Amino acid sequence: MADVHPPRTDGTPNADLGVIGGSGLYALLDDVTEVHVETPYGPPSDALFVGEVAGRRVAFLPRHGRGHRLPPHRINYRANVWALHALGVRQVFGPCAVGGLRPEYGPGTLLVPDQFVDRTSGRAQTYYDGRILPDGSLPEVVHISMADPYCPDGRAAALAAARDLAWEPVDGGTLVVVEGPRFSTRAESRWFTANGWSVVGMTGHPEAVLARELGLCYTSLALVTDLDAGVETGEGVTHAEVLEVFARNVDRLRTVLFKALESLPAARDCICSHALDDLETGLPGV
Ligand SMILES: [Zn+2]
Repeated sequence: MADVHPPRTDGTPNADLGVIGGSGLYALLDDVTEVHVETPYGPPSDALFVGEVAGRRVAFLPRHGRGHRLPPHRINYRANVWALHALGVRQVFGPCAVGGLRPEYGPGTLLVPDQFVDRTSGRAQTYYDGRILPDGSLPEVVHISMADPYCPDGRAAALAAARDLAWEPVDGGTLVVVEGPRFSTRAESRWFTANGWSVVGMTGHPEAVLARELGLCYTSLALVTDLDAGVETGEGVTHAEVLEVFARNVDRLRTVLFKALESLPAARDCICSHALDDLETGLPGV
């Protein structure tokens, strides 16, 4: 059982590394402190579970909540990323289940994307939306560069960790993020493939954007659980199949995450760490 604590208030970070676990990855560490964080955007998906990996403090957040209560379009992405930042987290891994858009990206493929395409609609996707927060602060109008949306150091750490396990990852590719919760039609899926996109998921946006807006490092690890509808020839994917493939791969995904967390540089000098240089955000604590 986890101890339940409020966040530390003495200014010391609760954790400096974070993992937002997707479908099938609902826990990461055994020995954890459960921390409940309030945010200006409402509650995150769940408590944050803080533990230690190789001497570094890691906060884990189940993206869909315990018991997978929240579908992708109802996740409070702003609260989730804010909660991690509030605990002191500056480097985040975001593993997620995806569909493969090429025949060679079958179930069990691990792809570390270097680009995404947003096909979601109606999600709260920025901290800089010109509205006053509950504490009275007013965020500035800020436009963040997303040309290269993922952390180069995080990507390198994830790729090296997978290779160490002889789980040869796909280095780069485009994750197209759809609104869900339904899966794609065959026509949509073929269109994604024709555009040269690699995998399709439901949660990669706006998570990566929000992380960059707070100057956090964010790295997506996309685990292929099925071939998408335009590539396979059967009846189409089911949620049960997704969870089954995830369950088969979750142990090695966890090992990759541990290794990647261990090898992340403690001092940051990547594009993400400079995203807010010379900017006044107007956000409290940012
Ligand atoms: Zn970074």
